[in-house]
Amino acid sequence: MVIINRVNEIRKKVREWKSKGLRVGFVPTMGYLHEGHESLIKKASEENDKVVVSIFVNPIQFGPKEDLSAYPRDLERDSAICERAGADVIFHPKNDEMYENDFSTFVDMTGLTKELCGKSRPIHFRGVCTVVNKLFNIVCPDRAYFGQKDAQQLAIIKKMVRDLSFDVEIIGCPIVREEDGLAKSSRNAYLSNEEREVATILNKSLMKARKLIEGGERSSKLIINSIIQTINSEPMARVDYVNVVDSLSIEPVENIESSVLIAIAVYIGKTRLIDNFTYEL
Ligand code: AMP
Repeated sequence: MVIINRVNEIRKKVREWKSKGLRVGFVPTMGYLHEGHESLIKKASEENDKVVVSIFVNPIQFGPKEDLSAYPRDLERDSAICERAGADVIFHPKNDEMYENDFSTFVDMTGLTKELCGKSRPIHFRGVCTVVNKLFNIVCPDRAYFGQKDAQQLAIIKKMVRDLSFDVEIIGCPIVREEDGLAKSSRNAYLSNEEREVATILNKSLMKARKLIEGGERSSKLIINSIIQTINSEPMARVDYVNVVDSLSIEPVENIESSVLIAIAVYIGKTRLIDNFTYEL
């Protein structure tokens, strides 16, 4: 496995592979990899001849008060994880390789970016769509792998690929969790021991909501209230948002009548964590 920092070099590598008819899988990440990322890389390596993992903490998807400079980084550890999961190349560009000083073109989606994380992080999805666009243009993958952990992001990327006619297949992958149910996340590293225990409240609140829906409850308001109540039972937890939305349009629904996404963002101390489940009706 090799680490490539330059756009021209990764392009050359991918061109070589494609000239031999090889299929390229791509896993975009911000690094500090865990078993969630690893599951995406493994799937990519099972389904493609070559796998590129990008590790890039994308500055333009962070708001001014967010954790860009604190975001955890460990390229050595990430390299070992990529290699053992079957990656062929890590693309690890510096900021100025991706964004020159006069960078001024952004991909800005309407609609799907409005609710959930789009409300609390207004410039986030513009940054995500822009960087994923650039990465797709640089890597030219046949397939790209994204986690259901960021369900809104996955829906947005699928829509963007359709809207802008990208020749890439988007594959969604299930959420990988810790034994106690907490969704794996690079940001879990911020949690103190006490906060780490409290953080299980996210998944607990969602499991309770799922039971209610499975028991026949169809009112989003009731489901949302149940989740908020469970989260508020933990004094160290603070709800950012809880919502029930259509899983394709990401529009809030009043009654659960089709496939819905139940998504939450919760602060545990200063750390903002997200989780979700999809309910197929
Ligand atoms: P990130 O490095 O947080 O930007 O994540 C890179 C990719 O890994 C995204 O497609 C995420 O949805 C996915 N991912 C992150 N955590 C998990 C997880 N626990 N299970 C599955 N996929 C994940």
